[in-house]
Amino acid sequence: MMSTSAEIDLELEVHELRQALKEKEMQLSNKEILFENIIESTMAGYWDWDIPNNKEYLSPTFKSMFGYHDHELPNSPESWQKIIHPEDLPGVFDTFHKHVASKGSYPYDNEVRYFHKDGSIVWVYCRGKVIEWDENDQPVRMVGCHVNITSIKRAQQHVKESNNQLTEAVERFRLSCQSAMIGVWEWDLSNNKLEWDDTMYNLYGIKRDTFSSPSASWYATVHPEDSERVDVEVELAISALNDFNSEFRIIWPDESVHWIKANGQIKRDAKGNPISMVGINWDITAEKMAKEMDRFHMEQLRLKNEELQQFAYIASHDLQEPLRTITSMNDIIVQLYAEQLDDEAKKMMNFVSEAGLRMKKLIHGLLDYSRLGRNAEVELIDCAKLLDEVNQDLSAAICDRGALITHDNMPMIDGYKVELRLLLENLINNAMKFQNPGAIPTVHISCEHFASFWKFGVKDNGIGIDSRFKEKIFAIFQRLHAKNEYSGTGIGLSHCKKIAEMHDGRIWVESELGKGSTFYFTISKTIADAQNQ
Ligand code: ADP
Repeated sequence: MMSTSAEIDLELEVHELRQALKEKEMQLSNKEILFENIIESTMAGYWDWDIPNNKEYLSPTFKSMFGYHDHELPNSPESWQKIIHPEDLPGVFDTFHKHVASKGSYPYDNEVRYFHKDGSIVWVYCRGKVIEWDENDQPVRMVGCHVNITSIKRAQQHVKESNNQLTEAVERFRLSCQSAMIGVWEWDLSNNKLEWDDTMYNLYGIKRDTFSSPSASWYATVHPEDSERVDVEVELAISALNDFNSEFRIIWPDESVHWIKANGQIKRDAKGNPISMVGINWDITAEKMAKEMDRFHMEQLRLKNEELQQFAYIASHDLQEPLRTITSMNDIIVQLYAEQLDDEAKKMMNFVSEAGLRMKKLIHGLLDYSRLGRNAEVELIDCAKLLDEVNQDLSAAICDRGALITHDNMPMIDGYKVELRLLLENLINNAMKFQNPGAIPTVHISCEHFASFWKFGVKDNGIGIDSRFKEKIFAIFQRLHAKNEYSGTGIGLSHCKKIAEMHDGRIWVESELGKGSTFYFTISKTIADAQNQ
């Protein structure tokens, strides 16, 4: 049967409509695929809530975000409500009610915590929207998206903690500066603005309201004799040629002078241009004064020593003449009047002669003492050779007493040769002299090497020294025995002390009464010039 033209038109129309529907369906399905892909690739989960029937589709990515497979969490609102952090649930409801009450203009978005299946916390950013309303303005359908923001939250937490730590460190630095009276300053170079903390004002004796910020106000406080130098030091620091590390005087408003120590660092931009200078100041007046006093006292001491040496020299030199007269007159009287003098008188004249001789020795000792180190120059000394020479000089005494003298390997050292020879001679001579009658002296000279000095020792098997006199024996004219027991003037060890000190060293004794003594002395490897002592 043939169709009427109206039927044909209708059929065509239906065909076209089907075609259009098919295309719409295709477009919709493409959009759905696109949507799914976008959601998956952004690692976001989504949800679709049928509010009247209380059913909620939860996408697989939504579930996997919390460690669940699709089948493990049923598609219902209870599923997410069970795993959301209980503290965050009320906030979610509150936002939802506000969103609904405002008919969607109040945004539904939350940052909430969920529990992962493994118990850890997952931070989620959740954004949604009611997309269908009923005729009574009640929500019918709502959709939303979940994005995992745990790593962002962790980073934020980290930044927060670091900031807290930084703030604490700054506070600690501020407090320690305050308690140590260290002032902190910052100079904005482009605006020439100088910022001081409270301590800076205290250090400069200035009140905050009387100080204007340009750096010229600071320069004005610097002592005129120091300001030019400090200006150059600041310029050098700005031009990156030097660090700013300076000491200068400042003048307080009450005209008192104070010493300041200043350190500063330049902050630069990416191109290296100076932006600002930050630094610290502290007061070093007391330190400077102490050094000044030390220098003054050292100089006083040096002058006193020089004076004393001069006195000892002049006194001993001038004493020689009258002494010579006394002893020669005594000799003449003994010769000329031998007949007239009885035995008692002769004995007395003999006493005078002996006393004169002793006094002559003492004066010579004193003269030697005051001459020690004068015009001496440091030279390289072969100590083994020096010891040979000393033994040579003492050969008569060594032979007389049958002494046995040994020594370690001896080094080459820098020192004052004549004086060192005298030092060794005195110690070795004493070691042989202070012996019990009939004993055979054994003397050993040792040498030890230390980082900054040499340590020598002269050990004997003599009578030893009572520990009470270990210091006293180094003083001039101090003796522990009567002259008829052991000869001597009591000046040898004071020579030795002076010589050790010339070598920036010291001398001391370790001894056991009746068993022997060891005299030690040190010689510095860097001897200060004798002329400057
Ligand atoms: P002197 O040898 O002329 O008496 P010193 O200044 O050399 O003067 O010594 C001071 C004193 O130290 C000596 O009189 C002696 O009593 C004591 N003394 C020095 N060396 C020794 C030693 N090796 N053993 C014991 N006593 C010593």
